[in-house]
Amino acid sequence: MPGLNLDENQKETKGKIKSIVWSKSNGKCWYCGIQTNPFKNFSIDHSNSRSSNISNLVPCCKSCNTIKRGMTIEQFRTKFVDGKYITKQDLRTLEKFGVGLPTNNYHKFWFERDKKK
Ligand SMILES: [Zn+2]
Repeated sequence: MPGLNLDENQKETKGKIKSIVWSKSNGKCWYCGIQTNPFKNFSIDHSNSRSSNISNLVPCCKSCNTIKRGMTIEQFRTKFVDGKYITKQDLRTLEKFGVGLPTNNYHKFWFERDKKK
């Protein structure tokens, strides 16, 4: 059945893409740097657009992927203060106490850090 072959091919392609993306960082999450397991907490993130070009796909842990969703890297960056992710609820609490987020906040993601360390 030709349909069956197509499915098998797609599965194979998906597997290949997964292993190429995973090996970009040896499985380290592109954003937080934790070691992912390809069979457990590994996701593929579209780093800056919806393009499925392999250069736009980066290895990502499940938690970062869930938080980042459709955000661009710059939008995602503004959600971190002192290396910690700030939730919407945290923001509301801060607002309540009249505390603003630091404007010179610049969070560095794993792929921007010195990877030799
Ligand atoms: Zn992560």
